[in-house]
Amino acid sequence: MTTPLYFVGLDVGGTTMKAGVVDDCGKPVAEPISLPTEPERGQDKGLERMDETIRLAVSEAKLKLEQIAAIGVATPGTMDIAGGIILDPPNLKPWRNVHVRRHIERTFKLPTAFQNDANAAAYGEYWVGAGKDVQSMVLFTLGTGIGGGIIMDDRVLEGQHSHGGELGHMRIEMTNPRLCGCNRRGCLEAYASASSVVKRTFEALDADGGKSALHGMFRSHGELTAKDVFIAADKGDALAKQLVDQTAYYLAVGTTNMLHSIDPDMVAFAGGMTAAGESFIERIRHYVRELAFPVPAERTEIRYALLGSHAGFIGAAGCGRQVYQRSLEGKKG
Ligand SMILES: [Zn+2]
Repeated sequence: MTTPLYFVGLDVGGTTMKAGVVDDCGKPVAEPISLPTEPERGQDKGLERMDETIRLAVSEAKLKLEQIAAIGVATPGTMDIAGGIILDPPNLKPWRNVHVRRHIERTFKLPTAFQNDANAAAYGEYWVGAGKDVQSMVLFTLGTGIGGGIIMDDRVLEGQHSHGGELGHMRIEMTNPRLCGCNRRGCLEAYASASSVVKRTFEALDADGGKSALHGMFRSHGELTAKDVFIAADKGDALAKQLVDQTAYYLAVGTTNMLHSIDPDMVAFAGGMTAAGESFIERIRHYVRELAFPVPAERTEIRYALLGSHAGFIGAAGCGRQVYQRSLEGKKG
């Protein structure tokens, strides 16, 4: 009988960090543990918090550290993936040049993978989620920003400078390009992230003369979210429908660029906006058929992701598993 293999994945975000243990098939052994990241307390405290989150996840899974084969850690960029270092991430200020992989390796004495958080989420979906039956997949994560990841033949496309898969910042508009959170203009994120949908909505409301139901929604909630826009569109509000349709078009432009650059088996969408349902993804497919070459437009599967907010830690654990497998090959060869 072989000993079962377990891997810990840790997904570090600006607000919380989440760790969970998965088995060799990527199935979570227990619910993941979340602790506040509190980056403002400094990077040494941050590393301690990572250790603590990993330990709690292992005990939540009713396992001992000796039963863990490897660890994977995912963090937001900027980063040096190959070097295992967080450089100067806007979401983790004031952390700078944090040797995450070295720290985790030394603390737990286990093979440790280090990965960009969006790449890790893409790998999670590829390993056990929407992409588990395909060879290549692109994932767009639609949140405050737009994250992305590209997986080809079980490999995360990290790029030569740790900037592979920055799909939210592909340029999709040249004429009067909107300002993006990255301070560049015309990025996909500046049009189709949840917060950009809200910005576009307020601009459209200023111009529509009070007809849209969104005016009333704003007055009663005191704010508007992308979800409100999708709800109003579902109820038939003309302005909301137009905004949702334009958002689908922008995402189709981004998708088409990926079809024409890497020709993947699948393009998947994750994040809060995916609650919009089947009609939204069908609009994206519709515009891809208009924009892309006929063969990839016809054959590439375009769908929603499956793992929700678990994709990050599961994918990080999967990256840990890859490092573990490579360490075995090294011993054999
Ligand atoms: Zn940008």
